[in-house]
Amino acid sequence: MTQVKKLWPLLTATHHYDKSLSTRGRGQGQIIEAPILAYLLETANGRILYDVGCDYHKIADKKQQQHYYDPEIFPFGPPEMDESQRLPAHLARMGLTPADVDVVFIGHLHFDHAGGLCDVCGTEVHVQHNEMEAAKSGLDIAYFPDDFTGQYPWKIMNGEYDVAPGVRAISTPGHTAGHMSLWIELPKGPPVILCGDAADLSENITDEVPPGLCWQEQEDQAIASIRKLKALATDENAILWPNHDISFWRTLNQFPKFHE
Ligand SMILES: [Zn+2]
Repeated sequence: MTQVKKLWPLLTATHHYDKSLSTRGRGQGQIIEAPILAYLLETANGRILYDVGCDYHKIADKKQQQHYYDPEIFPFGPPEMDESQRLPAHLARMGLTPADVDVVFIGHLHFDHAGGLCDVCGTEVHVQHNEMEAAKSGLDIAYFPDDFTGQYPWKIMNGEYDVAPGVRAISTPGHTAGHMSLWIELPKGPPVILCGDAADLSENITDEVPPGLCWQEQEDQAIASIRKLKALATDENAILWPNHDISFWRTLNQFPKFHE
C-alpha cells in the first residue's frame, strides 16, 4: 500500500527558449516559456523532493550569471528566478525547512534540475551511477559541474527501485544517460508519473517526439523511454505529467492546494 499522502508541484523558475530544445527537429524559431519545477511528496514516513531546480546564485549574481550562462551556449538567456522561488522559500510557506526533507531524488543532473542542491544540503541525494559519470564527463554543456561536485550525502543507485512504498524510480534514459522518472501512487486519485525531461511537453508524449538534447544523440533511446512511460500509464491507468509544459503546469494544483 502506498505511503504517499500529498504531492505538490513547485515552480522554481521559468525559462524562455527555442521550442526545438524540447521537441527534437520541431519548432525551430518558436520561443516557448517553460516552467522549471520541483515536486514535493509527503509520505507517511517522510518527505521526498523530485528535482531541485536551478542554483539561484548563478542567476542572481551578475558575475556568476555571465560565467555560467554564456550567451554562446544560452542565446535565450538564463532562466528567470526570484528569491521567493528558491526551495527554502517554498518550504517556508508550507511551514517547513530544508531539514524537513528526507530524500532528494534527482531525475537527472542538468543545471535546471540539480542546481538547487546547495539549498537543501544535508539531505540524502539519490542519483544514478551512470548519470553521475555522464555529468562528470564534460561531454554535455547542460551540466554545471559545481552543482553536483560538492560534499552531498549521495546515494548512488543503479536501475529501478522503490524509493518508498508507492514511489518507484523508473529508468528513462535518452535525454541523459541515467535519466529517471518517478511513479507515484496517490492515496485517492490515479497514479501520477513524473516524466522529468523524458517528456518536456505533452506533445513529446502524444507524438512520441524525443527531447531536443539526447545523450550522445541516442534519440532512439529517448523515444523508447517515451513509449515505455506511455505503456506503463496505459497498463496502470496512470497520468503522465510532462515536465516543462506551461499549459499543463497551469492545470495542476498549486500550494496551498495539492494532489492526493
Ligand atoms: Zn530540464
